[in-house]
Amino acid sequence: MKYRRLGKSGLLVSEVALGNWITHGAQVDDTTAQACVNAALDAGITTFDTADAYSETRAESVLGESLKGIRRESIELCTKVYHPTGTGHNDRGLSRKHIMEACHASLRRLQTEYIDVYYAHRFDSTVSLEETFVAFSDLVRQGKVLYIGVSEWTAEQIKLGAALARELRVPFVASQPQYSMLWRVIEAEVIPACEREGIGQVVWSPLAQGILSGKYVPDKPIPEGSRASTTAGSLFFERLAGQWLRKEVLQAVERLGPIAQESGLTLPQLAVAWVLQNSQVSSVIIGASKPEQVKENVKAAGVCLDPEVIRQINSVLNDVVEFDPSKTG
Ligand code: NDP
Repeated sequence: MKYRRLGKSGLLVSEVALGNWITHGAQVDDTTAQACVNAALDAGITTFDTADAYSETRAESVLGESLKGIRRESIELCTKVYHPTGTGHNDRGLSRKHIMEACHASLRRLQTEYIDVYYAHRFDSTVSLEETFVAFSDLVRQGKVLYIGVSEWTAEQIKLGAALARELRVPFVASQPQYSMLWRVIEAEVIPACEREGIGQVVWSPLAQGILSGKYVPDKPIPEGSRASTTAGSLFFERLAGQWLRKEVLQAVERLGPIAQESGLTLPQLAVAWVLQNSQVSSVIIGASKPEQVKENVKAAGVCLDPEVIRQINSVLNDVVEFDPSKTG
């Protein structure tokens, strides 16, 4: 494993991080979750990503249990606040009340005294940014949170947040957007804005939720047990299906296979390695339903792709890549 600084901060994070959205507390049983966490630790992954809202709060509890007994100083535990965690009108968003309550609940579920990186999971246009950042600042001063991040904020929102963070002396050092060979909407605006502020990217869905593993084949049924099969019927599936499970995307992904092979990589490894070629990416968060996936994907850490390989990837995917910065968030 290799480690990178998180933006301008002194915090080192593993190039590959493990996330537990959809998996822990939902798609996979707790034994498999534990096996995935063990595989990550064995491979040198130290950065773990979750959120209070994942699997209706169960994901944090499963992660907390799975990491029990691990020396706290040897890992970076990251979680998020914003999405609903209950049905009450204050059980969501970025108000001071919800941030404080959500943070305390996350600390309990994760069985820890502090969170390394605490993210605003989305921008909350109904609450003043000052209220949100003052609450974050108080959590930092109390030692309950070490660093602040945001997820899927636009460049403009990040600039506003960074100005307040400077004023309040809050270490706002991470942005968590979606980024993959297929989804590059952060390149035009979010990455340059963050670079100016010393904010690193910790990116999600490097395999476009499994599409870039190559297992979804054009004109073939969706594989049994895959994410697309287990989430069928949900709003999430509608988005996945509409966005990625199209013939032209799957055909383009098929054409990546030989490029990966010639580079001595599997397709999932090529996808993760591609993301890591961007020097503004501090860490790439992978998801896994099986420990074997962790073992395979983590081998992308430290891989340096030849510029010719990057050119070939761009030429194969050209028509199916999303670049539009207005799709952030
Ligand atoms: P990926 O794009 O890495 O997709 C992971 C899924 O792809 C796995 O669960 C598995 O699904 C499949 N897969 C992984 N490796 C392989 C392999 N080698 N061969 C075949 N299939 C494979 O990431 P996620 O979409 O899971 O996102 C990663 C993390 O990012 C999340 O856990 C979360 O922590 C974070 N995230 C943050 C968001 C935010 O708003 N901030 C939003 C979404 C995610 P299966 O086997 O079931 O098909």
